[in-house]
Amino acid sequence: MIFDTIVAKTTADGTSAINLIRLSGSESIEIVNDIFKGKNLLKQPSHTVHYGHITDGKQTIDEVMVSLYKSPKSFTTEDIVEITCHGGNFIASEIIKLVISKGARMAENGEFSRRAYLHGRLDLTEAESIMDLVNAKSTKQLQLANKQLKGDVKSLVENLQKRILNIIGQIEVNIDYPEYDDVETLTNEKVLPMIDILIDDIQQIIKESETGQVIREGIKTVIVGKPNVGKSTLLNTLLKEEKAIVTDISGTTRDLIEAELNLDGIILRLIDTAGIRSTDDVIERIGINKTKKAIASADLILLVLNQAEAINDLDHELLDMTNHKPRILIGNKIDLGEEIDFHDEPIINISAKNVQGIEQLSQAVKDLFIDEKILNSDRALLSNIRHIGKFKEVKQALEDAKQSSLDQVPIDFVEIDLRKAWTSLGEITGQSSADDLIGHLFSTFCLGK
Ligand code: GDP
Repeated sequence: MIFDTIVAKTTADGTSAINLIRLSGSESIEIVNDIFKGKNLLKQPSHTVHYGHITDGKQTIDEVMVSLYKSPKSFTTEDIVEITCHGGNFIASEIIKLVISKGARMAENGEFSRRAYLHGRLDLTEAESIMDLVNAKSTKQLQLANKQLKGDVKSLVENLQKRILNIIGQIEVNIDYPEYDDVETLTNEKVLPMIDILIDDIQQIIKESETGQVIREGIKTVIVGKPNVGKSTLLNTLLKEEKAIVTDISGTTRDLIEAELNLDGIILRLIDTAGIRSTDDVIERIGINKTKKAIASADLILLVLNQAEAINDLDHELLDMTNHKPRILIGNKIDLGEEIDFHDEPIINISAKNVQGIEQLSQAVKDLFIDEKILNSDRALLSNIRHIGKFKEVKQALEDAKQSSLDQVPIDFVEIDLRKAWTSLGEITGQSSADDLIGHLFSTFCLGK
């Protein structure tokens, strides 16, 4: 496949000290050499950096550094030239205009990564992990993206594909050279146990992916509690900035406030609510309905109680309303007393105002959602919803295969289901993916990636 030479500014728009302009394609070095005053770039070895000036032939546009990465040892496996110029959009766009006038074309979103994928330098899971790296907001997200970039999801998928192919192979061999008297013996004795083990393994991978997903997507969290219990104060303490209105007047935090916070590596996507109380006030009712909705859609409830006073009816109502959900009970205002003690459910005592007990709170969140052993193991951890969805498809196809073989339908039908499982796995890495899937995937990338 021959590709044209593409160019894009890889750094974000706006004012910055420097910008990086990247070209990829067989003419990259020639094009830049044409507008570069300095050494002859055509004669320079790969992986070298050169000082010089970009010029349009009449005047100098900028003082730059030019880096060369020759095919195949580059990100796209094509010749890549990177021009590091001064910041600001004007200089960069002047240089890009010049580069285009010499024969390059503006890159589309994600086109560099797409080329890396098309040239076999990356599989889809590795390409996706690049965006995860760029978007990472916590060290744990970074850890996960790096694991994926190293190719651990790819190896996992390839390994499972091999196992499925092995079963298909067994079937084919037995169809061609039957060692068994009938198909029933073959399916029940040989194929079924292999499918069973595969289903178990895939189920385990899907289960473990919960940790990965929590790290990648964050936990949708709602803070509930009666008015004045300290919800806004807790939110502010967690956010370390005044985003919520803290007040002594009950029920003034009426809107759902969405914010994201990094709680020791775990992203909590917070919704603060007005608190719940029986009221005839129409505006308050909106708050209550919102709270109920928030509870329904949340993955985690932080139920704040007041340690300075005994549990009241409203607390009981909230306890009932949230007892079907993953929740953490928080005993706030521990600086004022310790009136509440549940024997059957732990309560994390904090003082939101004095920033006390927050570490215990983040530990409780981790205990609920994160399996550290899985995260720190060498095993692949799925986190991407697309991958998890495909694994569920694979599991379904294997279960269909199992059912077909239990029903003693002709073995070819079992093979069809197995092939489907194999194909779904291939779609994760891009081995058997349709063009539109790939197009969709890369269009979410930013320009210059
Ligand atoms: P909300 O209605 O649940 O959002 O409650 P607020 O966050 O507005 O807090 C109500 C009042 O309780 C404010 O005066 C806070 O300063 C106070 N408060 C919050 N947390 C604590 C705490 O840990 N200790 C003490 N002593 N007061 C607190």
